[in-house]
Amino acid sequence: MKNIKDYNLDELKQELLSLGEKPFRAEQIFKWLYQEQVKEFDEMTNLSLELREKLKQNYTICNFQILKKQESTDGTKKYLFDVLDGNAIETVLMQYHHGKTICVSSQIGCKMGCKFCASTGIAFIRNLTAGEIVEQVLAVQQDIGENISNIVFMGIGEPFDNYEEVMKAVRIFNHPKGLNIGARHISISTSGIVPRIYDFAKEELQCTLSISLHATNNEKRSQMMPVNNAYPIEELMQACKDYIKKTNKRISFEYALAKENNDNLEDAKELVNLLKGMLCHVNLIPINKIENGQFVKSSNEAIFRFRDYLNDHGIVATIRRELGSDIDAACGQLRRNHVK
Ligand code: SF4
Repeated sequence: MKNIKDYNLDELKQELLSLGEKPFRAEQIFKWLYQEQVKEFDEMTNLSLELREKLKQNYTICNFQILKKQESTDGTKKYLFDVLDGNAIETVLMQYHHGKTICVSSQIGCKMGCKFCASTGIAFIRNLTAGEIVEQVLAVQQDIGENISNIVFMGIGEPFDNYEEVMKAVRIFNHPKGLNIGARHISISTSGIVPRIYDFAKEELQCTLSISLHATNNEKRSQMMPVNNAYPIEELMQACKDYIKKTNKRISFEYALAKENNDNLEDAKELVNLLKGMLCHVNLIPINKIENGQFVKSSNEAIFRFRDYLNDHGIVATIRRELGSDIDAACGQLRRNHVK
């Protein structure tokens, strides 16, 4: 049976029509699912008993169970959810000054093989459905007893490798009758799947696009991120420039600093040359040390020097605050520790 959370509002209206019901029932169901956040069709008390029976016969409501939860002293919470088919996914709740942010996964495993990523040791199993992406947020909200204000697609998986379901989930998050989270509070991070960047520019969504850049030339980037072999930096940058031109939106470039790999001043100079004149921001990430990983975190001195060089040369750069460093903080670590 299909998970009813896999439908956006228009699709749900079509489903209701096919059941011989009025389409406005879809709006009532949406409200029960995302505003009241009920777990059973029987809780949808303004629907007739007959309609509730029809819904039970045709759909399920996917409700994740928490398999494991870790809490950091800084307020970060990391969840491992049972997605009900024997697989598990990770979701992270982070506490920033501007509010609570949930980092969602978009796939079970990942195909991209970034060398600095804890998920790299986990084989790709399947895409998550839109409903499974949305359920991550609902399940965390239910656990903490409050609604959150920001969502980032930076968990396990490459969101643009699961483009349709991710876009559908974004629209459920954003819809006033869905979770009603402003698109400006939703950020999608890609390792650089160029054709999807062009598609995303046409979506007319106000979400933030983040690009995992991490290196400034093809040789170094291909070593860190095999996706660069398919979509080299020149093509990636052209897609980013076209995206900015079409949307007039700032891109956030993620740059994970690894000691003596991409953190020296030569790298900073190349980064300035690459991004000069672009409407962008650079997010510097002290790399997480991962088990068997080949990268080591840069020294604080190198991180500050890198940031200052960028800022002094007209590129706005900030250092991402490290959260959850006392728990399994890198994406994929909780799941990896669970499955091994
Ligand atoms: S960093 Fe993201 S895209 Fe790269 S392997 Fe990890 S989960 Fe996949």
